[in-house]
Amino acid sequence: MDLATLLAHADADPAEAALAPPIYQVANFAAESADEFTSMNSGRHDRFYRRFGNPSQARLEQVMAAAEGAEAGLATASGMGAVTTTLLALVGAGDHVVAQQSMYGGTLSLLQDLAPRLGIEVTLVDQTDVAAFERAIGPRTKLVMLETPSNPLLRLTDIQAVTAIAQDRGILTFADNTVATPVNHRLVELGVDLVMHSVTKAVSGHADVLAGIVLGRRELIDRIWRTHTMAGSVIGPFDAWLALRGLRTLAMRVQRQNATAQAVARFLAEHPAVRQVNYPGLASHPQHDLAVRQMTGFGGLMSLELRGGAPAAERFIDGLGLPVRSSSLGGFRSTVVRPAAMWEQELTEQQLAAAGVPAGLVRYAVGLESEVDLIADLDRALAAVRTDEMSSSVRHGPRDQSNVSTKNA
Ligand SMILES: *Cc1c(COP(=O)(O)O)cnc(C)c1O
Repeated sequence: MDLATLLAHADADPAEAALAPPIYQVANFAAESADEFTSMNSGRHDRFYRRFGNPSQARLEQVMAAAEGAEAGLATASGMGAVTTTLLALVGAGDHVVAQQSMYGGTLSLLQDLAPRLGIEVTLVDQTDVAAFERAIGPRTKLVMLETPSNPLLRLTDIQAVTAIAQDRGILTFADNTVATPVNHRLVELGVDLVMHSVTKAVSGHADVLAGIVLGRRELIDRIWRTHTMAGSVIGPFDAWLALRGLRTLAMRVQRQNATAQAVARFLAEHPAVRQVNYPGLASHPQHDLAVRQMTGFGGLMSLELRGGAPAAERFIDGLGLPVRSSSLGGFRSTVVRPAAMWEQELTEQQLAAAGVPAGLVRYAVGLESEVDLIADLDRALAAVRTDEMSSSVRHGPRDQSNVSTKNA
């Protein structure tokens, strides 16, 4: 069945008259007998104690597993909860992890701060260079962590090539599919062992839930669940219910964002005030061929650089009327942010450039607005930036720094 159909039917139960599931706002269930209590308490159960599982959580896991083509899933309190719990379950002191230089900020902090404190060694590689993964793998490597397209530079990882290298050596692969979603690629089918999502983003899609999920073979998910009962990143039943409600419309929302983003990216790429647009759907993207081979749509996320650098970028963002200045993505409302602003208190401009994030980079995440309105808004803001540049720059004092604390977009 097609993904859109699975989202509507994967959890259909002929014995159930209600079309929507109830919310099990319940912390613990009672047993009828000593025997039943023993069986509730052994292995993975949805009706024992909420830290071990909950029927509302199980329902979300069932539909997400169908969407990703995975056997099983484990929903968590946040995307970072899914990443941390998985890492704690699969690696320990003395083990080695290979990951990408360009990954979600929270994941990079985990790999560069928490992992070394636990005795886990990490090597970061250029995701666009398949051979770099091969070179980084050593005898103690237990896990390869991937993210494609990466945020905010929209670089791609060749999933089939990298997972083949890991599989040859018996190493597990763990990939973040938050940006593309299963609408644009199903990573289990491409060879990934474990797929995670920040459910906070497109999966729930309505800017009202914080949640995460990890999906894969049942045996692996059961191992991660065991650690999860100790780590305690537990999703609440109402959040699980809201996330499932949003998930029902994932296919149509992401297909719409794909189409809108393609039109927006094309408009930006042709605008004289824009130096560069990073979007895998543009033929100018250095990995466009891989995008066409690996993806069925190119997503709602892009980044761009203006000719005027960081000051022009901030004036541009200020001039936009529709997208909100926010760190999230994949929701109903478009968002815009200057990624370097999230780190500029800690890093110098040179350090930011070394991390591959130019100071003037603007990240634009398309929502569900009309492409006509979004493009008209962009056109107005870009025209204002150009007019500003042609007149005196003296009028512009120091910029408002209120956006600096939006870490880990
Ligand atoms: C937001 C995000 C995360 C972290 O998810 P939270 O739900 O915020 O914990 C991980 N990966 C990507 C790509 C994200 O965008």
